[in-house]
Amino acid sequence: MYKAPINEIKFLIKDFFKINELFKDRETSFCDEETLDGILEEVKKLTENLISPINRDGDIKPAILKDGNVILPDSFFKAYNSIAEGGWIGISGDTKYGGLGLPLIITTCVNELLSSACLSLALNPLMTQGQIDAIETHANEDIKKIFLPKLNSGEWSGTMNLTEPQAGSDVGALRTIAKKEKDGTYNITGQKIYISWGDHSLSSNICHLVLARLPDSPKGTKGISLFLVPKYIPDSTGNLIGKNNINTISLEHKMGLHGSPTAVLEYQNSKAWLIGQENRGMVAMFTMMNNARLGVAVQGLSQSELATQKSIEFAKNRKQGRNLNNAKDISTPIINHADVRRNLLIMKSLTFISRALCFDTALAIDLSKKTNDPFLERKASFLTPIAKSFCTEMGSKIADLAIQIHGGMGYIEETGISQIYRDARVTSIYEGTNGIQAMDFVGRKLGSNGDIAYAILQEIEENEQFIKNTKPSVAKSIENARISLNNAIDWMISQNDLNDRYSGADPFLRAFALMLGGNYMLKTLLITEQEDKNELAHFYIKNLLPFCSIESSISTLGSNNLYESANSIF
Ligand SMILES: Cc1cc2nc3c(=O)[nH]c(=O)nc-3n(C[C@H](O)[C@H](O)[C@H](O)COP(=O)(O)OP(=O)(O)OC[C@H]3O[C@@H](n4cnc5c(N)ncnc54)[C@H](O)[C@@H]3O)c2cc1C
Repeated sequence: MYKAPINEIKFLIKDFFKINELFKDRETSFCDEETLDGILEEVKKLTENLISPINRDGDIKPAILKDGNVILPDSFFKAYNSIAEGGWIGISGDTKYGGLGLPLIITTCVNELLSSACLSLALNPLMTQGQIDAIETHANEDIKKIFLPKLNSGEWSGTMNLTEPQAGSDVGALRTIAKKEKDGTYNITGQKIYISWGDHSLSSNICHLVLARLPDSPKGTKGISLFLVPKYIPDSTGNLIGKNNINTISLEHKMGLHGSPTAVLEYQNSKAWLIGQENRGMVAMFTMMNNARLGVAVQGLSQSELATQKSIEFAKNRKQGRNLNNAKDISTPIINHADVRRNLLIMKSLTFISRALCFDTALAIDLSKKTNDPFLERKASFLTPIAKSFCTEMGSKIADLAIQIHGGMGYIEETGISQIYRDARVTSIYEGTNGIQAMDFVGRKLGSNGDIAYAILQEIEENEQFIKNTKPSVAKSIENARISLNNAIDWMISQNDLNDRYSGADPFLRAFALMLGGNYMLKTLLITEQEDKNELAHFYIKNLLPFCSIESSISTLGSNNLYESANSIF
């Protein structure tokens, strides 16, 4: 059974990132240590006792469409209501509109626990949280007053509608049309596919944020606007006065996340409100997407944690073969075998750095909002694609290792391990595929001079100095990785052809994540004497950080490596 890892979380947010010091001058309702502990205890109870037990329902009782209604597992209703009643949906929402006003880093902790407990259900509040952020940032006051209190309380839920059959990664290819009405509202016509939680009855209304094109708008992403299109139309006080013209055509049959209804929606002259300015929809949607990208990174982390917990427990109990360290132990728990231990240590350390990376990103977003410092803002957007790609890739990798550790039992449905693998897999695909994240990272985020990347390496070099005398081999390993990555950054920013950067984007992003992981482990060695944390840090630095140099080196092979040198293969 899932155990919420609140000691691990407390170590990172309190001892490592020291959020109490960072937010102590905050005027709004940032919680003191006691409140923070209370939140974690509360969500621990909720996730362990109520939500985790329904995770299997979310797999074996898929959401279905029957007579025009979406049918969900019964257990989802009580669980959703408990999440809403706890205030965990509007946790970072503005207190003026009924949110709790807490920093994103606290939401990140809560979302990890909810997602580990039941990923398919937790995706619903995650979508709503992104929508709250987008409406708070871009909508006018009238819209905020109607929609935000209901979204914060979970009475209404939110979705994100970008994808169309011909417009996946290429969002600019979308064709959904918006027309302006005389009363200042709009109407929307078009089809959206793959819409997570696109239809259901957990909440009394579903608010869709829809990207669409006005007549005569510029081609591509510059001609896209963002609209709020509710399933039921509210009056100015938020009372529902009639059904909007939105049809749920079907639900997708998926590899995993069966409890989450992924809908094909048809909009026919549906009543809509513009969010932000006409033709500036991508800017507004990016607020939601960036929020959701961190949220999806946390989904990856949540599955890593779950898979690792289950594997350690299994490996302590399953007995097979002789213990090579103890001749008397002729039928030993498999955790004593070198191969199994290596895999468990890999899982444990990758989960640790995934969590640190998610928290680091959330904190950068919080601090950039608090200070309006442009450097911090750019650091936050620099870290977001790394967190999204790396943590989701690790989620799948760790789920895969978990199957291996379980042997045949990993391939059998009852253990729940294959559900983790199937559920986690989509996190590398949605919210912008990991390939698209890597291109965004080496293109836009690295920029023309790599200033944020170099600043991060500079900080790592400074940290190396603190450990040089006491642990020279650790300092040397970090230095080797840092120099390799530095060379890769030099190479990246000196390329004139963007496709040279793109050709190395995936290994470059991974190299960067592994380096950040090295820095998290180095800092861990500096701040704590806890034996388990120190051992894990040493394991990571010796066994996984060296891959940073390999990935860095591969990232500089250029596009010839994939085109001219591989011309006759396909
Ligand atoms: C379960 C599920 C839930 C989803 N939920 C939502 C949702 O709520 N709202 C929503 O709007 N969408 C949603 N999506 C859609 C999701 O965001 C898209 O599937 C994703 O963005 C990829 O688009 P695509 O499937 O069309 O793949 P494609 O864009 O066709 O990509 C196929 C492959 O080609 C690569 N590729 C594409 N273009 C390029 C390029 N220019 N350069 C390099 N490589 C490229 C991709 O990385 C990928 O590997 C969901 C999808 C799933 C499966």
